Amino acid sequence: MLVVKNFNKIINNSWLDLLDLLPNPVSLNKQITQSDGSSYDEIVFVNKAFINSIGYNTQDIPTDQHWFKLAYPDEDYRNFIISSWVKGIERAEKDNTNLLGFPAKVMCKDKVERWFEVTTHLDYSIFEEFKTIVFVQVQTPKDTILELQSVTRSLEKRNIELLKKEKSITEQFSLINNIIDSVPVRIFWKNKKGEYLGANKLFLQDAGLSSQEEILGKTDFQLPWGETEGALYRSDDVAVMESGKPRLNFEENQTTENGEAITLLTSKIPLKDMDDNTIGILGSYSDITKQRQTEHELIAQKNALAHMAHHDDLTGIANRTLFNDRLEHGIAKAKRNDTIMALLFIDLDNFKTINDSLGHSVGDEVLKFMTETIIKTIRDEDTVARLGGDEFTIILEGLKKESDASVLAQKIINSLEEPIEIDGNKLYVTASIGISLYPTDGETTEELLQYADSAMYKAKSEGKNNFQYYSSDITKMAFERVVMETNLRSSIENEEFEVYYQPQINGNTDELIGMEALVRWKSPLLGIVSPNRFIPLAESTGLIIPIDNFVMRTAMRQFASWYEEGLNPGTLSLNLAMKQLQQNNFFEILEALLKETGCKPEWIELEVTEGQIMENFDHAINILNQISDMGIELAIDDFGTGYSSLAYLKKLPINKLKIDKSFVRELPFNEEDIAISKAIIALAESLKLKVLAEGVETKAQKEFLVQHGCPNIQGYYYSKPVTSKKIKQFLKNTSSSKVIKSKK
Ligand code: C2E
Ligand code: CA
Ligand code: CA
Repeated sequence: MLVVKNFNKIINNSWLDLLDLLPNPVSLNKQITQSDGSSYDEIVFVNKAFINSIGYNTQDIPTDQHWFKLAYPDEDYRNFIISSWVKGIERAEKDNTNLLGFPAKVMCKDKVERWFEVTTHLDYSIFEEFKTIVFVQVQTPKDTILELQSVTRSLEKRNIELLKKEKSITEQFSLINNIIDSVPVRIFWKNKKGEYLGANKLFLQDAGLSSQEEILGKTDFQLPWGETEGALYRSDDVAVMESGKPRLNFEENQTTENGEAITLLTSKIPLKDMDDNTIGILGSYSDITKQRQTEHELIAQKNALAHMAHHDDLTGIANRTLFNDRLEHGIAKAKRNDTIMALLFIDLDNFKTINDSLGHSVGDEVLKFMTETIIKTIRDEDTVARLGGDEFTIILEGLKKESDASVLAQKIINSLEEPIEIDGNKLYVTASIGISLYPTDGETTEELLQYADSAMYKAKSEGKNNFQYYSSDITKMAFERVVMETNLRSSIENEEFEVYYQPQINGNTDELIGMEALVRWKSPLLGIVSPNRFIPLAESTGLIIPIDNFVMRTAMRQFASWYEEGLNPGTLSLNLAMKQLQQNNFFEILEALLKETGCKPEWIELEVTEGQIMENFDHAINILNQISDMGIELAIDDFGTGYSSLAYLKKLPINKLKIDKSFVRELPFNEEDIAISKAIIALAESLKLKVLAEGVETKAQKEFLVQHGCPNIQGYYYSKPVTSKKIKQFLKNTSSSKVIKSKK
């Protein structure tokens, strides 16, 4: 312990020993006023608890200036603490209290930051120029508890003397008392009979007394709490004295006179004489209510700080730090789950112009608007971050397809189409977006960020206001998908769909038995798009319903008119999408269409796949029965590729199995395909179902199938799907509807 020379002259070492026994870090500061009127504090003493928990000794911190620099190395925080002192003093004056206190994060000598409630009593200065500063460590309340046992030993001696001399200690120990008074702990000591021998100032306040003399000789029964707690305290005291063992740190919940709920942390220690006889009791308690509150405040403060450290001030979204963290996590997760992750790098196209011409506050509003736009577009689990300036990033995890990222990119671009109004300025904001993919493009945060960034520059050089993938192949695919997505809806109104018909032929006689209606999308942007490419999208967006309604109406009308003209097109096979089948009013729609088009139910066959049926079997069987009751036939499409359960086949009102083209492709060479197609034919026979093979391209395929009992053939061997105009030609040319021009 280092004690400054002149300080030593004033304060006796034995008193300092007592300070050393206190559980809380305490420093004694001496105010030095300089000739220019300004002042600073000389730190003349720090106690053991100070050195133990905070670490600095008076050599490290000879003045408060040194202290501030070491304890609060961050300049902003330091200034904040200094202003807290000033504010605390102002507030204390306003509230008319003497206790000044606030929480502070102290950088201790071991480079660990610890939180303390820093307190000082404004009017408790020991001598005029001295003040004590007491640190109460918070967050770990047990640390702050008085280790009274060690205090006892020192107090014991004094109290024994006191008992002997039966004399007030007030004068002799005025300095000790002052120091004890500076600790935010109530301390008292009583003799065996329960008569008070002394107490510190806080305790006296609680007792409604103002001096040591007033409490001397009084018992708890004579103090304000006598009636309610006197007996309890006495029996506690007796128990401790009889056991001869201290009872430390027990919490007591009490209610103050004003009805406030408070929490006290209490300790009671037997006072003993030299011969180890118990001669009294030493007790302490502290009101830890405020401390508990401070702890909660600190947690909130900590959370707020953590949030600040990870979020962008202006927009409140993740900053670069958090973004890097999330990206790293995202990569690890994608690796673990074997999924695709996309990183979007977004840069506003004209931000600098806006900022320069309209000022930063408008620029800020644009950035906020951009943030909202992005947040509205992404899913909850996606991360959006602002890396600085007008650069945003989005992390998309768990993607199914690489092109999924472009859907979002396009959505963002679309939502910037309309001008925004800020401060009366109409602004057009556009963005260029670069996309990199894990694992396609890279596997580290650096790679992904760098590639997304360079893809963004590619988007800029492509004329801005667009997105680009790092890999240009994906850009092309994604572009197609985006075009499809954005044009599919309007394609219905623009009547860009056409129904093609593919003949179905009896392979024995070459007679036309019917045709399958197959939709085509004639997109002005993409050309003729195959249904395999747009039907999944149409299904996921629900557009399949109007599309299929169009196909049904067109084909049914067509068939009605052909029949009316005396032609014989046979059976019309229609494909049904799952969504269509599940529509509640599908049955009514079908009936209305029949009525409207004049098509007869017996001309129609509906094709459903096994998957469609199995998805909701009960519902499917219901609706299929109704359809069948109308006289419409049912065929199972792509038979053999889904669940083939004989049990369900028997329950369904079906008329036909269509052998999937995948089993036809390698006929008659592939043993497995031979076996499967034979088995399907046999199955159809035994269930008394018709059977048709699709995807028949060669004579050999056709002949194998016909020979093995499948006379009905659909495929390029006879004809590709063609327009109604071409079909009509066939029908007219072959008045008996017999042979369709066949391949040699
Ligand atoms: P699907 O029902 O299995 O239709 C048969 C597909 O096989 C058609 O493809 C047809 O052009 C093709 N095909 C016919 N003969 C041959 C051949 O000899 N060799 C080969 N390799 N292919 C042949 P498309 O027209 O591209 O239609 C694809 C799928 O799209 C259809 O498969 C059907 O599931 C669906 N689809 C087509 N039109 C519609 C529709 O109007 N509504 C619904 N919901 N789906 C449709
Ligand atoms: Ca089909
Ligand atoms: Ca099929």
